[in-house]
Amino acid sequence: MTELNLELNKNTTGRYGEYGGQYIPETLMNQLDLMTQAYEHYKNDPEFKTELHDLLVDYANRPSLLYYAKRMTEDLGGAQIYLKREDLNHTGAHKINNVIGQALLAKHMGKTRLIAETGAGQHGVATATIAALFGMECEVFMGKEDTDRQKLNVYRMELLGAKVHPVTSGSMVLKDAINAALQEWATRVDDTFYVMGSATGPHPYPLMVRDFQSIISQESKSQLKDQTGKLPDMVVACVGGGSNAIGSFANYIDEPSVQLVGAEAAGKGVDTNLTAATVERGSDGIFHGMKSMFLQNETGQINPVYSISAGLDYPALAQNTLP
Ligand SMILES: *Cc1c(COP(=O)(O)O)cnc(C)c1O
Repeated sequence: MTELNLELNKNTTGRYGEYGGQYIPETLMNQLDLMTQAYEHYKNDPEFKTELHDLLVDYANRPSLLYYAKRMTEDLGGAQIYLKREDLNHTGAHKINNVIGQALLAKHMGKTRLIAETGAGQHGVATATIAALFGMECEVFMGKEDTDRQKLNVYRMELLGAKVHPVTSGSMVLKDAINAALQEWATRVDDTFYVMGSATGPHPYPLMVRDFQSIISQESKSQLKDQTGKLPDMVVACVGGGSNAIGSFANYIDEPSVQLVGAEAAGKGVDTNLTAATVERGSDGIFHGMKSMFLQNETGQINPVYSISAGLDYPALAQNTLP
């Protein structure tokens, strides 16, 4: 496997058009500055890059397969469909790509404690797993609603030695878990690194998540070339917070012939209030330390979101997947 190219994206300003930024209390600004400096340093550090590469290969099981879905292709009768099998990574999702990168950065910054938010539980499980690997303390914040519907992942995190905090504020789901994790971080920054699970939050998180997840499209591009000799016509990804989408798109953004399609969860329908379709129904706002599009009411309160998938019910849009 070729080493991950962390210099793919030239935009390191933390602004994506008018979106992005750092809307965060003073206590955390200092940490974000330290994190930004550390990332800019280590992403060019050969030793860090080798460590990252070895963990991706030996621990996370990369490269993931690119599978030609013959039966689905025949059944749907249109495009030749290939599936990038991120589900075959260790812990069962793409989350581990990002967690390995951020946790490695935390380790190099001298942090000994990881905290994280989680929705369905995949990001929490990935963080608990890497914390166990690195011998770090781990605490995960999870909406009470989600701890009830995703009990098995709570059990997995606890088995891995993490402490899971059920969050009972707000609507007790992912957005409330992010609030709780940010609050916890503000009270204890010295030894603690907040591992953010998606392309959300203040700079430098969306930038780091994009870079670490770009391994998906770095691989798919070369795998497709080997298998078909061509670029894809279209890349399709689901959008919750946007991390698998930006990772799947990153290496194709400069290819004008490749259409990039993000699919949001419509829930019960984009014209109902039981939806997670932020592009369709959202408006500009500031929340979780970033400017983005949100599902919100006239006074800027975040609306409850709905999707049958516990991982897609996030009320914002990944800022760097915006045009
Ligand atoms: C977390 C997760 C998502 C949604 O998060 P993104 O950041 O939008 O990728 C979607 N699918 C799976 C399997 C997940 O674990």
